[in-house]
Amino acid sequence: MTFRDFDFDERLLEGLDAIGFDKPTPIQEKTIPLALAGHDLIACAQTGTGKTAAYILPIINKLIKTENRHLNTLIIAPTRELALQIDQQVEGLGYFVGVSSISIFGGNDGATWDQQRKAMESGADIIIATPGRLISFIASGKIDFSHLEHLILDEADRMLDMGFYDDIVRIISSLPKKRQTLLFSATMPPKIRALASKILTNPQEVNI
Ligand code: AMP
Repeated sequence: MTFRDFDFDERLLEGLDAIGFDKPTPIQEKTIPLALAGHDLIACAQTGTGKTAAYILPIINKLIKTENRHLNTLIIAPTRELALQIDQQVEGLGYFVGVSSISIFGGNDGATWDQQRKAMESGADIIIATPGRLISFIASGKIDFSHLEHLILDEADRMLDMGFYDDIVRIISSLPKKRQTLLFSATMPPKIRALASKILTNPQEVNI
């Protein structure tokens, strides 16, 4: 299988070529067609399998064809390190096609807050955020989610282990109900199933 089998926009295919992605990984083969078809997903996948590109490529493909863009996608991740790593990958994949992202995460320095606020005000297609900082941004009225179409939870099991369940539910209550939600987790304990049943609609399940 190649990326051409997904019927991606030619500009995205050229970008994938340029960064040396020759063919999809197994999680990408399974996830991308379901995501392109608009399904909610619950996916069991470890870091290193290519899960970031699995969820972001269908979104980038859609954004390329969208004029008049607004904040489109929210990715929630457990830690600053993972948020930065996702941001780098999204920038790398989006660079060739003019899709932009910013990351917002905790830290107690005011400079970071100001930088993140300014970056957000300059407009981005995709925000990658850790739960605590995201709640502060929502409380400050600085994020407009009214055009949001996609929500991704990355390493959902780790977020619950870190005690973010209530924060996540609270964040999701401020998002549009009509959206596509993709939940990625390395493990599928009952509490992940419970969260999934609360926030996903008729999800397809992907395992690798
Ligand atoms: P992830 O599991 O999302 O953290 O991705 C692990 C690494 O694999 C990242 O450095 C990606 O850039 C890389 N990667 C993801 N998909 C592909 C692919 N189809 N071909 C080559 N490298 C990939």
